[in-house]
Amino acid sequence: MTLATAWPHGRPLFQAVAQCWVCGGTRLRPFHDGRFDYREYAVQDPELNEYSGQSLRLVRCDACGFSQPEKLPTLPRFFDRMYDQRWSEKWVEHEFVADDKDFIFRTILRELDRRTPERPRRLLDVGAHAGRFMHLAQQAGWEVEGIELNPRTAAYAAHRTGAPVHHGNARTLVATGVRFHAITLTDVLEHIPEPRVLLAALAGLLDPGGIVAVKVPNGSAQLMKERWLSRLTAHRVSVADNLVHVNQFTPGSLRLALERAGFKRSSVAVAAPELPPAVSARGLADRALRLGLFAAASLPGALHTPLALHLQAYGTNSPR
Ligand SMILES: [Zn+2]
Repeated sequence: MTLATAWPHGRPLFQAVAQCWVCGGTRLRPFHDGRFDYREYAVQDPELNEYSGQSLRLVRCDACGFSQPEKLPTLPRFFDRMYDQRWSEKWVEHEFVADDKDFIFRTILRELDRRTPERPRRLLDVGAHAGRFMHLAQQAGWEVEGIELNPRTAAYAAHRTGAPVHHGNARTLVATGVRFHAITLTDVLEHIPEPRVLLAALAGLLDPGGIVAVKVPNGSAQLMKERWLSRLTAHRVSVADNLVHVNQFTPGSLRLALERAGFKRSSVAVAAPELPPAVSARGLADRALRLGLFAAASLPGALHTPLALHLQAYGTNSPR
């Protein structure tokens, strides 16, 4: 199927985004270019591949510091289609058993445990991927459910945890009446256009006093890291490529997104790092560097420096 037959003649590939998704501001300044390359989808989804060769700019909101794309694709279900990667079973299984993110996951579980005395207690993991976090949360005494867009990882996560993994969106789940004590989004919110809309829907899925935990890359720190890498190596600055990261949060704009979505008492700190396997001298050195950076970024005032590569936020849906 070609683009011309799939869409009405003359329909543009993109639609402009005029307002900041966090604060509604309209003074949006371009600061970075990204390009599209979806050739790996050439057979699976030729319409998606029509975007290969296109480019777009990231713009930063003058008012709150949040960054987003200047325009979005008009192709229906663009992001669902982009996340329909046909991964091998072996790869998905590796994603479940790999423990690189366990330091992040256990840090979040410890904080949620401290804030949630109720028993039994229920947790929803949004963007559950292959189910590793759901599995660790079960071990920590939570009843879990997940939401996952990718059909393959969703099925795998449900199989391994024996827990429900929903393939719909958060608003569908609100209508079912199910409620949770905690909702987690780890490395998820940076991928979702209009993040405030999702956060507001999630607020409706929490019990009164429930907690949301959000981990995202720190947008400006990541861009700076990539620019340094590109100077030192053949690395290309790719933060805006293929709309993988549509949102670039700062500590302030992440907190504002939570507050505007209805969460109270929100806090933002540096997030725990991913730790590669300590199977070689290089792996050990890499871990030591990441833990050292994490310790330095946890010092007072360091959250607003490039040392804080990832942000961890918490918010509650009632002021208690
Ligand atoms: Zn803004």
